Amino acid sequence: MSIGMFADDRFTRPAFAQFQPHPNNGHTERRCCTGRDAAIEIDPRECQDSTQRFLLACQSRWLNLTSRVFMEKVVIIGSGCAGLTAALYAGRANLQPLVLTGRQPGGLLTTTTVVENFPGFPEGIDGYELMVRLQKQAERFGARVQFGVVENVALHRQPFQLTVDGEPVEAETIIIASGAGHRHLELESEFKLENKGVTYCATCDGALPMFRNQPLVVVGGGDSACEEAMYLTRFGSIVYLIHRRDTLRASKIMAERTLAHAKITPVWNSIVTEVLDPVQNKVTGVRVKDVKTHAERVIACGGVFVAIGHTPNTQIFKGLIDMDEQGYILPRQGTATSVPGVFVAGDCADRVYRQAVTAAGLGCAAAIEAERFLAARNE
Ligand code: NAP
Repeated sequence: MSIGMFADDRFTRPAFAQFQPHPNNGHTERRCCTGRDAAIEIDPRECQDSTQRFLLACQSRWLNLTSRVFMEKVVIIGSGCAGLTAALYAGRANLQPLVLTGRQPGGLLTTTTVVENFPGFPEGIDGYELMVRLQKQAERFGARVQFGVVENVALHRQPFQLTVDGEPVEAETIIIASGAGHRHLELESEFKLENKGVTYCATCDGALPMFRNQPLVVVGGGDSACEEAMYLTRFGSIVYLIHRRDTLRASKIMAERTLAHAKITPVWNSIVTEVLDPVQNKVTGVRVKDVKTHAERVIACGGVFVAIGHTPNTQIFKGLIDMDEQGYILPRQGTATSVPGVFVAGDCADRVYRQAVTAAGLGCAAAIEAERFLAARNE
């Protein structure tokens, strides 16, 4: 048997031409196969002259059939807790879901340290490890997790059309689990110094030499800000927690733990108005304004960690699907959306709970609803 590989040999689209002696008549049987073991029949008249001609016929048939070959039953956009739980359930329903990871495989949880409130882990579990385990569990049941960013979607007709890194994918159902991204302070100086001392993830960047034994600033008053501040106490000489009010939004246990830490100094009723110093191309401090007295001062620091919440990653669905003014997708009846066949789960639709376990629960519900939708269509 010989195998020729041609055309698009990327992960999703390998195409092979196989030449095998036919077991009954000894003639050469020619089959064109996709990486998914789907054979494309080739008319022998198209290819009897030469191998080259066969390959061309095969390639052209492959391209013609692309839409049929890549029709997915369930495409899951996002690979956080919601997306991978949906993949686990859809996989167990034999739907071979395709999970498109987005730019951050594993989602935001991969950037947290210990997750203490995911049921079943009494000692807590590292966020990254939790997501690796969840992916393995989903793959065990047939989910295909593929690195890919969805650039465009067309939801006005079935099958739904997606453009993933420039390539078309078609889907009978879509589960949107695209999560949320870090919110910015929207300061010009913040953008200028991003990755030069301004960061949005202490777990990712906190251990960098530039932050060691330096005064550090965390902005925010929620669980994320508390978690970042606690983590940074390992590296910084002192951690200023700058919050615009005089009480933390964080859960009671996190707030108490944070405020009790000797290395953490809260700066209440204050907002950052400027990150210094873009001229030096590095962070040297923050200008802070007291919202009650309007007094301004500079706090010297070597790093700024912004932890002021998240914005849902739903821009590509704007105008196509019902969402609120902040971009959170509005579910109807469970995880259904305004477009039949499109379901939603996790932080991109949840402005209230935003927990790993609630995202997982919604991912489960979305997969069950997608399965029922497909079953009802095929009745
Ligand atoms: P969050 O709860 O929405 O908190 C955002 C914080 O940033 C709030 O304190 C808010 O102030 C402040 N803020 C918002 N915009 C601001 C601005 N422009 N300038 C200054 N401050 C601003 O977000 P989060 O902390 O990322 O938490 C999100 C969800 O994830 C929550 O449900 C949380 O419980 C969960 N979470 C859980 C864990 C864990 O259990 N291990 C860890 C992290 C997050 P105000 O308070 O004045 O609104």
